[in-house]
Amino acid sequence: MSEKNAKNSGPSFDIITLGCPLNQYESAAIEGLLLKHGLNRSRDKSDVVIINSCAVTQAAARRSRKEARQAKKKNPNALLVLTGCYSQLYPRDIEKLVPEADIVVGTAGRSKLPEIILQKLDQKDREKRVLIQQLHKGEEFEEFDAVPKFYRHRPVIKIQEGCNQFCTFCAVIFARGKPRSRGPERIIEEAEAYAASGHREIIITGTNMGLYGIDLEDINLPKLLKKIDDLDYPFRIRLSSIEPMGVTEELMEVMAKSRRICHYLYMPLQSGSSRILKLMGRNYTVEDYREIVEKARKFMPDISIMADIIVGFPGERDEDHRKSMETLRSLEISKIHVFPYSPRPGTPAEALKGQVRPDIKKQRVEEMNLLAEELSMNFHKKLLG
Ligand code: SF4
Repeated sequence: MSEKNAKNSGPSFDIITLGCPLNQYESAAIEGLLLKHGLNRSRDKSDVVIINSCAVTQAAARRSRKEARQAKKKNPNALLVLTGCYSQLYPRDIEKLVPEADIVVGTAGRSKLPEIILQKLDQKDREKRVLIQQLHKGEEFEEFDAVPKFYRHRPVIKIQEGCNQFCTFCAVIFARGKPRSRGPERIIEEAEAYAASGHREIIITGTNMGLYGIDLEDINLPKLLKKIDDLDYPFRIRLSSIEPMGVTEELMEVMAKSRRICHYLYMPLQSGSSRILKLMGRNYTVEDYREIVEKARKFMPDISIMADIIVGFPGERDEDHRKSMETLRSLEISKIHVFPYSPRPGTPAEALKGQVRPDIKKQRVEEMNLLAEELSMNFHKKLLG
């Protein structure tokens, strides 16, 4: 057992987090839970190392495996726990590619991690434990019975999980299951806990936040934000990524009237060609997206809009790429997140004809990154003084 700090006398653990704000929230919640069970956080040699993995792209999946191998190299005697989207999607891969993992838990059942870890440490056997729950089977929203432990100045609150849109390129939907919302009371409690402990900005996140409340009575995202807005502490709220069709007029109105919700929308566009949006299975056209942006600017003229764009989606012709560039430029998007298309195993897009040649994809990514720099500079210049 490694050196213990005064607070907890239990085994030590470290958590390495990859991926999105949802993962950041879950790592902080797992940490809160482990501390509550008497374990103590250590960034040196640890008895337990937890990798909260990501599989949104090939690169993210590769990085998850690499972090696991490196953690074991650094802590040969440590219990290695691999959890998160990579574990949920590719448990068989892990058998072959990450034999070092002692415990494999997907995206569900992590509120039981302390017991699983302590039992494993007591048993001292090295037999691998794999706990992957089937999703899209009526799963409930999983609460972690502890206050998430954040070291960063902008904590995250998870309000929702899962999706029902089935975009053809997306593996997340298989990793996160059907849409399920968290009760507003727990969300308000958590926001108050963060604000009372001095945090000045809180990030609100979910897999598809626009679906918040579809499984609850008389609540949706705008109504929830109003409740958080009523808290009497000096903090601001920032929404993380939200699908375009989730940005309703009701939401824009609440954002515009609020004195604390940041005038910021992170709204994935993915393509500026409606032909490609159709192949992606997205539930809007370029014209729909443009209308939402223009309406948001009417409510909040100073709004900052960030967009994800996938470059090199199967079937993308040069003219589609041009359309994406023109759409982003004409909408004066303030920040672009450029994703080279990454085929995800088992997704419909993986089997689509017209896979784009790597050199052409590379060329288009370079062009898109140059545009991203230009548009970001234009936005920042507007704020000078
Ligand atoms: S909206 Fe589409 S991209 Fe987003 S999680 Fe759902 S299926 Fe995936």
